[in-house]
Amino acid sequence: MNQWIAVNEPLLIGNELQYLEECIKTGWISSEGPFVKCFEAEFAARIGQTYGVAVANGSAALDLAMLALDLEPGAEVIMPTFTIISCAAAILRAGAIPVLVDADPLTWNMDVSQIEAKITARTKAIMVVHIYGLPVDLDPVLKIAAKYGLAIIEDAAEAIGQTYRGKPCGSFGDLSVFSFYANKHITTGEGGMIVTSNPIYAERCCSLRNLCFKPERRFVHDQLGYNYRLTNIQAALGLAQLERLDQIIELKRAIGNQYQVLLSDLAEVQQPLAKTEYADNIYWVYGLVLRDCCSQSVSEITAELYANKIATRPFFWPIHEQPVFQRLGLFQEESYPVAEKIARRGFYLPSGLALTTEQIERVAMVLKSILE
Ligand SMILES: *Cc1c(COP(=O)(O)O)cnc(C)c1O
Repeated sequence: MNQWIAVNEPLLIGNELQYLEECIKTGWISSEGPFVKCFEAEFAARIGQTYGVAVANGSAALDLAMLALDLEPGAEVIMPTFTIISCAAAILRAGAIPVLVDADPLTWNMDVSQIEAKITARTKAIMVVHIYGLPVDLDPVLKIAAKYGLAIIEDAAEAIGQTYRGKPCGSFGDLSVFSFYANKHITTGEGGMIVTSNPIYAERCCSLRNLCFKPERRFVHDQLGYNYRLTNIQAALGLAQLERLDQIIELKRAIGNQYQVLLSDLAEVQQPLAKTEYADNIYWVYGLVLRDCCSQSVSEITAELYANKIATRPFFWPIHEQPVFQRLGLFQEESYPVAEKIARRGFYLPSGLALTTEQIERVAMVLKSILE
């Protein structure tokens, strides 16, 4: 009888237990504990930025990064339509307006050639989001940002340990954000971080994360903040995995490469790009897009996989098609055909770090039998 193959199962095989034990034995379990500062400093150093501000999750990191920019109401921020809702939500919550660009059909990242045409007098920032393991082509984006004086928010939640032309993802943003959710390359269960080299942005994020306490008199506030703090227990997990990040990336690549080989003769599916001129894929998730010649739908195929105890997830749903934004009157009549297509024809296979070679082989075999 086959066991379930989960879409993500984490692998906690480093110093996690030892560090957790230290939390329990010392009694440092809140955000005041020493692992938090240590994780912030070491993570920021690994990414190549000066400051790290650990927060409760990646969505909170996006919220604080946007607030730190301190934009005027109605400022516009250019972002991909093919991404998680947290990106657009953070822009809107900061009082700004998300302006969308379509996805590239091969990398599934934002089509950077569409950015410049979206710039207006109100544009203040570009939010780049690295999707599924390949980075956004950053050079053209950085050039546009410099030309128009725009800030860059870099969402590297899916690209921890990835590089763009040899430099770490997350080192390019004026503020860069990470998530440590259970399916990310480093996981603290729930968690996130903002990294920046700008002391003013770092200060604002620290303050907003901790209710905007006034330094000179506790319990007095001139601004409304949040409790978005990360605990010492979570930071202990993060630190243990940061020590193993190179191995984690190697393992992710091995999983992705194994799928690439096993599925290479399937005419019905478009596989992820193994590499671009600026990066090798780290396969945060192993995504597939059904080609036009495939007569079956994503829901039919994933239902059959599920019947064989193999879990999958659909691709992101485009921001411009989200019912919540349509109801708010946003993105009316806008159309981004690539994102609309991959949202309907894409899904991803089990991609967690605990996957075994045998499990990957079974997934490939079952998928082939469904498609043939
Ligand atoms: C996971 C993810 C987030 C959100 O992180 P949470 O910790 O789940 O809130 C944001 N952006 C991207 C690109 C992500 O993949």
